[in-house]
Amino acid sequence: MAPRFEPGQPLAVLTTQPLDRLLDYKAPEGGAQLGDFVEVPLGPRLVLGCVWGPAEGGLPVSKLRAVNRVLDVPPMRDELRQFLVKAAEYTLTPLSLMLFLATRAPGLFQGPATIRVYAPGEPPSRMTDARKRILDVFETYGGAALTVGEITRAAGVTGSVVHTMAAQGALIEMEAPKDQPYPRLDPERAGKELSEDQAAAAAVLRSRADAFGVTLLKGVTGSGKTEVYLEAVAECLRKGRQALVLLPEIGLTEGFLERVEARFGHRPGEWHSGATTTERRRLWRMVGEGGVQMVVGARSALFLPYRDLGLIVVDEEHDSSYKQDEGVLYNARDMAVLRASLSSAQVVLASATPSLESWANAESGKYERLDLHARFGVAELPEMRALDLRGQKLPHGRWISPALKEAVDQRVGSGEQSLLFLNRRGYAPVTTCRACGHQIACNQCDARMVEHRFLNRLMCHQCGATAPIPTACPACKTEGSMHPIGPGVERLEEEVRATWPEARVAVLSSDLFGSARALKEQIAAIAGGGADIVIGTQLVAKGHNFPLLTLVGVIDADLGLHGGDLRAAERTFQLIRQVAGRAGRHEKPGLALLQTHQPDHPVIQAILSGDDEGFWRAEAAERQALGMPPYGRLAGIIISSTSVEQAFETGNLLAQHAGPLHAIGAQLFGPAPAPVARVRGRHRVRLLIKAAKGAPLQGAIRAWLAGLKPPGDTRLAVDIDPQNF
Ligand code: ADP
Ligand code: ZN
Ligand code: ZN
Repeated sequence: MAPRFEPGQPLAVLTTQPLDRLLDYKAPEGGAQLGDFVEVPLGPRLVLGCVWGPAEGGLPVSKLRAVNRVLDVPPMRDELRQFLVKAAEYTLTPLSLMLFLATRAPGLFQGPATIRVYAPGEPPSRMTDARKRILDVFETYGGAALTVGEITRAAGVTGSVVHTMAAQGALIEMEAPKDQPYPRLDPERAGKELSEDQAAAAAVLRSRADAFGVTLLKGVTGSGKTEVYLEAVAECLRKGRQALVLLPEIGLTEGFLERVEARFGHRPGEWHSGATTTERRRLWRMVGEGGVQMVVGARSALFLPYRDLGLIVVDEEHDSSYKQDEGVLYNARDMAVLRASLSSAQVVLASATPSLESWANAESGKYERLDLHARFGVAELPEMRALDLRGQKLPHGRWISPALKEAVDQRVGSGEQSLLFLNRRGYAPVTTCRACGHQIACNQCDARMVEHRFLNRLMCHQCGATAPIPTACPACKTEGSMHPIGPGVERLEEEVRATWPEARVAVLSSDLFGSARALKEQIAAIAGGGADIVIGTQLVAKGHNFPLLTLVGVIDADLGLHGGDLRAAERTFQLIRQVAGRAGRHEKPGLALLQTHQPDHPVIQAILSGDDEGFWRAEAAERQALGMPPYGRLAGIIISSTSVEQAFETGNLLAQHAGPLHAIGAQLFGPAPAPVARVRGRHRVRLLIKAAKGAPLQGAIRAWLAGLKPPGDTRLAVDIDPQNF
């Protein structure tokens, strides 16, 4: 039994406010217990908090304000509390921010009674475009009652349209639904019949259920990793525990949800930013009450208040989007392992191209490793060939070599699809003046403005700022002198349309879709055969299944090999392998052609030969020699300020007083411009700390930064295990 606090008794509350300390209150009329979610007064406001323990401040009870009310949700369990504490310690983040992550369910703390929901009523007297869109939204959500916020967001209309429709009876207010448990999933429904390889892997996962342990499930794209880990989910459900599957691109996972439905009879709970407010509130509650057995989510689903979490699957575990790069800087893969260790849960990390970290953990025996060796059924791995561009002179503005053109020619009109992959959004990476060489840069960031013809704007890929495309050079004022250099997907699209005017062309780039739904529809259309040629950025690398696709052409396989980043090789290897894996997933064999100027580069060679293990061994040896992760530890201190001098001064000051770091034998590099050196008008400078693997890095950093008062508007952020080094 959790300790109880009788009415009026003092207690300490952790709030979601950025305070870095607990606040003392008196227990409310009905008393409170440890872990209760509460609403407390803070200044003139009411804020959200969690009862964290006995009061600490020593203030007389008469001076304390009372907790306003205890919320009607299950109290926080000890496991989640420990997870938040440890995650805060590991990432050196204030605990309040961790509580904020754990309670990000909009509307959660309003009682259902205060939420107004609507459903369609009489047909509107006058149909406008906006009203039509609103009615369409209801159609999309199957007639469910929706809040004003949900309607305005999904329909792209203002609240006043909704209110007018409600006043005229075209929308009627409904009783807010009480949160219902999710339909029960049935693990005993027959799944697909597994191949021998798959069945063996599934049996190992089943035998490891119900206890903490990490398994790396490695298998080429199409080998059936999903089928295999769904068996681990089934076993978890049989034990009556909850399963969480993390996906890197959750908005696009319709196909995955359908597979879960086919296997278990119903859809799982979904947790991601695209889910509606009502859905998220319901899921948050049901996770705590045990009214949902399986959750599919983005990384923040790790912070939900599960009643009994028994399994976490991290699909595409190498994906860099698992590392949050703003706010709390955490890596969801590592946090999944931490959370599981506190809940006696099993972890499955699935990937065709594991991160070097996970590969090394499997090598050292810390993780178990399971391999699926072949693609399922008759599907074979695509044949891979390099197209050597050296000595080939392609016409101006052309990027498709004759050999690649021929391969596409053979497929257009035959029912087979081709994918041309170029990891560059926009029209061209650089726009420069013919007369003076001027390039347009973002005035807030250290980045060029990229021309987006589709949007008819220039855009900064760092901060998202846009500007009109100038007709004259902003520097020398020459009319019509600005011209594009190099290819982006939009420019590639021009070439494709000119080369194959009869082909149906689809472009998959995040800029081109206003909503996740539009993107989903486009993906479904491609899968159904609605395009002959698909042009895509890295959006296409992630897990989509296009049955008719038999050719992948990588326009520039060298892109990403350079940039002075130690991880460049690993990333390029993963990305190209993933993209190539899109080809030939069904009966027809696939072909992947890599256009390159460096066919002998070790990364290109490793991709072509399929010698993954050789690649990882070579990478590992290099990292080990340098003492870099995963064989050493890194942390970054990002110092940002509107004044570049102030940022550097702060960095230098810190570097001069780094006693606690030297005490643990750590090395300090910098200050140097951070990998992203200026964003939204703030300059960013980084100190990089390198320590031995077992060194107590966090403690040393805490001691080092304690008492530092950053001057002016300077801010510090700690990035443990930075992605870029
Ligand atoms: P991965 O996750 O490794 O990319 P998937 O689990 O998505 O592989 O499987 C690839 C394709 O093969 C999917 O369409 C899947 O339905 C099919 N598949 C895999 N294993 C089986 C099986 N045992 N029986 C029938 N179809 C299977
Ligand atoms: Zn100019
Ligand atoms: Zn910018």
